[in-house]
Amino acid sequence: MKILLNNIDLNEALFGNSNIGFVPTMGSLHQGHTSLIRKSQKLSNKTVVSIFINPKQFNNKKDYKKYPRNIKKDLKILKRLKVDFVYLPKIKDIYKTKNKIKIKLNKQDKILCAKYRKGHFEGVIDVMTRLTKIVNPSKIFMGEKDFQQLLLVKRYVEKNFKSKIISCKTIRDKNKLALSSRNTLLKKDDLIKASKIAKSLIIFKKKLLDKKNLNNLIFMKKKELQKKYDINIDYLELRNTKNLKLSNKIKNSKIFVAYFINKVRLIDNF
Ligand code: AMP
Repeated sequence: MKILLNNIDLNEALFGNSNIGFVPTMGSLHQGHTSLIRKSQKLSNKTVVSIFINPKQFNNKKDYKKYPRNIKKDLKILKRLKVDFVYLPKIKDIYKTKNKIKIKLNKQDKILCAKYRKGHFEGVIDVMTRLTKIVNPSKIFMGEKDFQQLLLVKRYVEKNFKSKIISCKTIRDKNKLALSSRNTLLKKDDLIKASKIAKSLIIFKKKLLDKKNLNNLIFMKKKELQKKYDINIDYLELRNTKNLKLSNKIKNSKIFVAYFINKVRLIDNF
């Protein structure tokens, strides 16, 4: 496993390789990340994993500061997986040049997390287009856990580069909670609560299959969860999986949720 600390070393290491798979991460790796890495190793000749906590995508400075960092443990995991290249850029490696790609979300995109985290996706798209230019991979592996991110990055990256975005299923723990680096910020009781919410939404979605007036039922479910678990819900919405438009049927749709438990913001989709 080669660890590359700047762009020159990365370019030198990657020179001559084709069919490169790329797994961009912000570290504090878990089995969600490792499932992406394994998929890349299956479908690519070489796999690059980056760890970069991108300050530009945090709309809240405190959130950036408290984002979990576990580089030693991460490197152990990556070594065990026999990853070919680990890219650990500094802020200046990513942001020293101007990004020529114009990033502007249109009105229809300002929904879900784009509505509640101003500037977040502009920051994500900016860093993802920069990373794509630097790594120049054939494929980029991203998780459905961050569904809106996946669709937006796919649109911008595939429009401007030859790289293809490969979407990967959400990995959950045995209690149905989607794995997330942010889970390490939760206390035990809150983790239990988050699992109960995930289970409740999985069952709820099944129940919606033969129901009418789904939007009203979703509105009631939001109220119920807020009250029962004492959480603050940014959104609980049923949306089409192709274009993220609001939906009133289960077919081709997912329930999207974002909520706070003790100041930690969790997102998921079912
Ligand atoms: P992050 O380090 O949180 O920025 O995530 C890096 C990549 O891992 C993103 O493409 C995420 O969507 C993906 N990812 C995070 N959690 C999971 C999960 N539980 N299952 C599958 N992919 C995930």
